[in-house]
Parts: sequence; structure tokens; C-alpha cells
Amino acid sequence: MNELREKTITKITQQQFDLLVIGGGITGAGIALDAASRGLKVICIDKNDFGWGTSSRSTKLVHGGLRYLKNGEFNMIRKVGRERAIVYKNAPHIVTPQRMILPMQRKGTFSPWLTKTALTIYDLLAGVYKHERNYKMTTDEVVKAEPSINKNGLLGGVAYYEYKCDDSRLVIETLKKAVEYGATVLNYCELKSWTYANNSITGGECLDIINNKQLCISATKTVNATGPWVDNMRLTESTTVKKRLHLTKGVHLVFSKNDLPITNALYFDVSDGRMIFAIPKRHVVYVGTTDTSYSHSIDNPLVSNNDITYLCNAVNNRFNVELNKDDIIYAWAGLRPLIYKSGKNNPSELSRKDEIFTSETGLLSIAGGKLTGYRLMAKEIVDKVEKELSKIQKRDLVKCSTRNIKLSGGDFDGEINTDTLIYINDIKYDEAKQTGVEVEYFKELFYRYGSNIDEITNKAYELKKPGNNWKDIWLEAEIWYSVNYEFTVSPVDFLIRRTSIPMFNPELISDEFLTKVNTLFVKYLLNYTETVQELKNKISLQSVLLKVE
Ligand SMILES: Cc1cc2nc3c(=O)[nH]c(=O)nc-3n(C[C@H](O)[C@H](O)[C@H](O)COP(=O)(O)OP(=O)(O)OC[C@H]3O[C@@H](n4cnc5c(N)ncnc54)[C@H](O)[C@@H]3O)c2cc1C
Repeated sequence: MNELREKTITKITQQQFDLLVIGGGITGAGIALDAASRGLKVICIDKNDFGWGTSSRSTKLVHGGLRYLKNGEFNMIRKVGRERAIVYKNAPHIVTPQRMILPMQRKGTFSPWLTKTALTIYDLLAGVYKHERNYKMTTDEVVKAEPSINKNGLLGGVAYYEYKCDDSRLVIETLKKAVEYGATVLNYCELKSWTYANNSITGGECLDIINNKQLCISATKTVNATGPWVDNMRLTESTTVKKRLHLTKGVHLVFSKNDLPITNALYFDVSDGRMIFAIPKRHVVYVGTTDTSYSHSIDNPLVSNNDITYLCNAVNNRFNVELNKDDIIYAWAGLRPLIYKSGKNNPSELSRKDEIFTSETGLLSIAGGKLTGYRLMAKEIVDKVEKELSKIQKRDLVKCSTRNIKLSGGDFDGEINTDTLIYINDIKYDEAKQTGVEVEYFKELFYRYGSNIDEITNKAYELKKPGNNWKDIWLEAEIWYSVNYEFTVSPVDFLIRRTSIPMFNPELISDEFLTKVNTLFVKYLLNYTETVQELKNKISLQSVLLKVE
């Protein structure tokens, strides 16, 4: 427990909210920001950590909507392409343009000619910047770029751009900005039952999981933004609703670059007609995803041997490598909350569109969609909420303005692009280097915290004492920031969702490092008592692998 959380809980018990949002994934976070920026008194809760659900387990791309081309959904491409540019503009520190090579394969999903034409249409519809438009690559160019690629049947390739994004940080930065606008947010707070007046929902009875205490949240309107849990929540509320979601599981595996030596991101064919990504990041490469119908525990989707075999075979066929289960460094499994469509059983055919369901008691539920379109989903539902509130409260309607709201950490002056960010990073490093911090270490933090890096730098200066090791100082400054500004209540939140260290900086994980992290949480969190061994178990690869199949 920390001061931030204590204050939040006191506020909750004293306030009547306009809007209660259940679910602190990207959908709930987006709604909280939109509502708060329109002046609504909003609260967003999550039963686990923010971003713990699907929103930290995606492919981590802000897409331009290429997949919609296959189904001729041209409007969708236009919409998603525009949204991608907005997300980049508002959070440039965590969204990065990434060249993607699409190798062409004899008997592949698309012919080279069709792919080039399709990508050109896509560039125009999605409003892709000139310097990011697609171009053809010869077989030699593809092989030169990726010497480990299997040349059998290779017919050259096409390069195009996707945007990499730290998904769980997108959630956190959105929530931090929502709080700046006056939103109340609380993680580890589970909605247990609903409260009603005159047959309308008036909020819910919740459990503050950290303190094991009941909390009653009163709100005029309630939105269920619980992603894969949306149907479960609706079923507890009304006896007349039918299941509307079709959950599919998507798995990603992380390998060392020593075992999968690629330097470019690639999107390539798999023999079953699907396509998967291989994306390098620092010293590792992550590969995914699978797409299989799912009906087991929503709280704990795990990686099965079939998932591993499928992804390893796909990579081994595409590249001259021999990966197997023993080479996996880390893995994650997420659930897509897709909208059920009668007659469509193939997960890849299901639409990624979002939908809103309204119950007789006034509960609004939103599901489907993508990380990329979260802002538009939020706008759609807050428009609805506002209209209904305006009838009750006689308040004027306020237009959505999130298009121009920079997320926390994205508060830079002027137009930001890759080059200006490099320049700002250099300036910020100059301000920080007297603490002894190394250039590369600092850069990693700058692209994690963006304009908020100053808070961490100031703390590092405050902690600097003669003889102190700079790495210890910066780790402490980061954990201090995480606990006090990012709603972090455990080292697992910090490691998995604030920093992604086990996935993308696995070389940092050692007994000594985890002991330091644990000790700092004991220092900064009241009543924190977990042991290092418990922490190790929770972040281990074993914890995400299915044991019995
Ligand atoms: C494998 C995979 C890859 C993907 N890749 C991409 C991609 O690259 N780009 C892209 O744009 N999209 C991608 N997506 C889609 C995207 O990740 C999801 O659409 C999005 O994250 C869904 O967010 P959400 O907030 O609706 O759900 P979630 O993130 O799951 O959030 C729901 C939250 O509700 C909380 N909750 C549940 N019950 C309760 C309760 N009773 N009380 C309080 N809280 C509760 C949960 O704890 C959870 O945190 C991918 C999805 C998957 C599965």
C-alpha cells in the first residue's frame, strides 16, 4: 500500500461518480481518459494490475490495418491508418515506426504482384507517410537483409511499415493522463456484484484485493470494458443475455538473437495459410501469433505444446534455424475478445470490429476491437454515456478531444518524429549524466518514460551519494517513480507490465537483481512481504506454460 492508493480509496468512498468503468485494459483506460477530459467524474477499476489482461499480451503493434485489405474493408483501413498516426503523435516515446519485410513465397498467401498492388492501395487509403511507403525487394536484397532466411521458393519481398508499441505502457500512460484530468483509477479492485435503484445499475460492490476490504462504488452510468471477461460480467447482471464473444488464444514466444539471428521485423507465411510476425527487440526476437478458439480459464491462458510446435515449425521452415521448446526465453498467451458470428468457426475469419451491448438495466458493455482503435472505441461509448447523462443531469454535451491529448510521457513541444526524439534524448542525457548513468541505459528509460524522465533523473540526483553505484541509484529512482506515479503495487507489476524486463531484457534477471528489486519494494511499499523466491516463481517461464495437456 502506498500514499497514492490510500488517497484514492478515501476519494472513492466519499464520491458519487458519473461513470464507473470496469476493466483497466486499453479499452477501459481510453474510456477513462475520454470521459475525464470531457469533465465527467469517472472511476476506472481493474481486478488485477492495469493492462494485466489482453492489453499486455498482444503482438505490440499499432497496425495500419493491412489485414482489412483481404476482406475489402476499405473504410476500416482509412480509419485505422488515421488512428495509427494519432497514437504515434500522442505517445511517440512508446510507439516506434518499424520497417517490416514481407518475404514472398512460391505458393504463398499472395503473389508478389498482388502483394505490391495491395500494399500500394493500403498506403494510399491509410494515409501512410511518403517515407514509409512500401517498396519491392529482390530475392538477393531480402537474403542480404536476412542471411538466415530459407531461400527455397523465395520470390523476393516487399518492405512496408508497422508501428511497434509497448502495449502495457500504452495503458499506463493513458491512465496517468486520465488522472491528470481528474479521473480516479484503482487496480486490484474487483467488481463482485452490482447495485441497483429502480431497476437501473447504480454501481457495484467491489473488493479492494490489497487490503481485503469491501468498497461500494456509486455511479450514475456503468461501462463493462472487461475484454475477454465481458460476457461473464454481463451474465452476472442479466438473465436474458446470450454469449456474444468468441475468445481466441494468441501465443508469442521469445528467443535469443543467437538462436534466431534476424535484425529486421518480418511478417511471413505459415503453411496453413496464416501469417505470423518475427520482431527483433534488443538481444531477443519475439514470434507470434497463434489464433485458436479458446474455452478454458479466462484468468489464466497458458502456452501449450501445440502452440510451441506450431510457432517453432513456422520459424524453422522460414529460416535456416532449428528452434525447439528448450530455446524459449519467455512466452505469453493472450485472449482476443472477438465478436461471435454464427457459421464462422475459423478464428482468423472473425471480424476484429468492436460492438456495444446495452442491457435493460443500463449497463453498457464494449468488446472486440484492437489496441490500435482504442481511442475511437472510447469516443463511441463516451458519446453514448454523455447523451444519457445529459438527460439526467441537464449538462451540455462536450465533444471528444482525445485526438489532441498527448498521453503522459508524450508531452513534448512541437511535431515529434524519430529524429527529434533522438535529439531530445541527447539533451535529457546531458542533464542526467552527472549521476554516472550510461548512455544506452538512459536511452532505454527515455523511451519508456518519455517526457516524464525528468522525475526519475531528479530522483537519481537526490539519491546520489559518494560511493553509490549508478545502476543501483537509477533502479531505485525508477521503482520510486513506478510506485508513486504508475499505480505499481508489486515487483511483478513493475517487471512484467511497466518495464517488460523478463521478455526483452532477460539478461538483467539474476538472483542479485531480483533481491535488489524486492528490497526496494519493501522500502517503498507499506506491508509488502513477498519473498524473492515467490517473485522468481511468478515471473518464470514455467508459470506461463501449460503443464498437463
Ligand atoms: C495475441 C494477441 C495479439 C494482439 N495483437 C494486437 C496488435 O498487435 N495490435 C492491436 O492493435 N491489437 C492487438 N490485439 C488486440 C488487443 O490486444 C485487444 O483488442 C485489447 O488489448 C483488448 O483490450 P481490453 O481493454 O478490451 O481488454 P483487456 O486488456 O483484457 O482488459 C480487460 C480488463 O478487465 C479486467 N476485469 C475483468 N473482470 C473484472 C472485474 N470483475 N472487476 C474489475 N476488473 C475486471 C481484467 O483484469 C482486465 O485487465 C491482440 C490480441 C491478442 C490476444
